[in-house]
Amino acid sequence: MAAILGGGLGGLSAGYYLLKNNVTTNSNLKLYLLEATSYCGGWIKSIKNKDYIFEQGPRTIRPKGIMGLNTLNMMEDLGLSEHVAPIKPDHPAAKNRMIYVRNSLHVLPSSLKGVFKKNEPFSKPLIYALFNDIKQPHKELSDDSIYNFVERRFGKEIADYAISPMICGICAGDAKEISVKFLLKTLFEWEQNHGGVVKGLMKSLFKTKNDDNLELSALARRAQEEKWSVYTIKGGLQTFPHTLHNYLKENDVDVNLNTRVEEIEFVDSGTVSLKKTDGEVLNANHVYSSIPAYSLANLVQKQHPKLAQILRDIPFVTVGIVNLYFKTDKPLITPAFGFLVPPIENSPILGVVFDSCCIPDQNGTVLTVMLGGRWFEQKFGNNVTEEKLQKIAIKEISGILNIKETPTACNVNILKQCIPQYVIGHYERVEKIRNYILNNNLPISLIGCSYDGVGINDVIYSAKTQVEEDCP
Ligand SMILES: Cc1cc2nc3c(=O)[nH]c(=O)nc-3n(C[C@H](O)[C@H](O)[C@H](O)COP(=O)(O)OP(=O)(O)OC[C@H]3O[C@@H](n4cnc5c(N)ncnc54)[C@H](O)[C@@H]3O)c2cc1C
Repeated sequence: MAAILGGGLGGLSAGYYLLKNNVTTNSNLKLYLLEATSYCGGWIKSIKNKDYIFEQGPRTIRPKGIMGLNTLNMMEDLGLSEHVAPIKPDHPAAKNRMIYVRNSLHVLPSSLKGVFKKNEPFSKPLIYALFNDIKQPHKELSDDSIYNFVERRFGKEIADYAISPMICGICAGDAKEISVKFLLKTLFEWEQNHGGVVKGLMKSLFKTKNDDNLELSALARRAQEEKWSVYTIKGGLQTFPHTLHNYLKENDVDVNLNTRVEEIEFVDSGTVSLKKTDGEVLNANHVYSSIPAYSLANLVQKQHPKLAQILRDIPFVTVGIVNLYFKTDKPLITPAFGFLVPPIENSPILGVVFDSCCIPDQNGTVLTVMLGGRWFEQKFGNNVTEEKLQKIAIKEISGILNIKETPTACNVNILKQCIPQYVIGHYERVEKIRNYILNNNLPISLIGCSYDGVGINDVIYSAKTQVEEDCP
């Protein structure tokens, strides 16, 4: 018997790949999924109404790269192709991504042509950043913050106005703490191995590309041909985990909702006991843990305090989400993906997504304001109410977007410890955790957003890799 711990996208994907690898049929293995709450999907939650969709967690998925294509393969296999709503390159949400600096919104360049022009708030065309890279002396490092790296190679303006807001948008984090390997691993390797990004890029052009060996579904091929920027799911992203949940149930996976595990005991290299809060114990041969690292730390604390300590060293941040709906005939915003606010602006908000532009079938103007992240406690303290966050969000967007209307509907959520922070040394930390598990022969695989990437594609791909490692 194998047990999957957690029914977020990581746990559901582990179930999907275990089934696809015929683990249950070949080894006659019963599969259990244990989820603490009353639903599967974890942070993916959509509120659907006839006029609007409020996404409380993620809303868009990137189709690019091997991980993006892998997710599209899964979508097609689950019968979701018809539900996919792509944003193509000519769509305003693909072209118009903005930052809010010094009291105004600025559109970031979205094409090669744009980097040759001077764009506010940058003082020079972005192409000048490459000269900075060529001039810089070599500096040997094993890791660095993404901010330091970008400032060193491309200058302070790019670090402040391009990378820092992007890190806020991806993981609600501080670029000054996040590892350069989180987003720019290849560029960092070029710097370390070839003395600079431009030099590394030149050398890489003469190398033959590795083939990824991923067979592409029709949906993945369509995304490549039509050059999708991002995509979402009609009717709300929650359809995705919902469909995965049904797929698992149809294939005899025993999905247990409202089932929180409070302790794990490793008996030997092929037996592990999972103690549930109702006192019942489930014995499994292997556990796939997709719960956040800090939650797993609590479960292994008694038997493996050292492992628990390294798991706790992966920090998480809290994000406030305010979804707003304005029932208006004309949109209250100019079409765009939305805007991000660089931390240097010291604003309570991280950014705003223009959902009515990115998500189809919305009848009015829908916006999502994201607040706090790495600065949540610093800006709002530990006891901020949802009403207070709503007031702050409405005040900010009324100032920035000049919206004077009162929202017709609003939903506020404080997502506690929802996004892991891949701070400097993260990848070495994860290696240490996996080495501990290997050296102690613990029958557990680690999946989910704490380890191998924070986005939807990363979580799915990590589940695939971990499952395939166990059953080659
Ligand atoms: C606000 C926000 C916006 C995001 N936007 C995007 C986006 O636009 N695009 C993108 O690609 N990614 C985005 N992400 C990231 C994406 O949501 C995550 O990568 C993904 O949902 C993580 O899935 P997971 O399974 O690893 O974790 P979770 O979703 O955290 O699932 C873990 C599950 O484990 C359960 N659990 C915890 N402890 C126990 C226990 N002891 N016993 C049993 N069950 C337990 C929890 O209840 C939960 O259901 C966003 C994340 C957030 C928070």
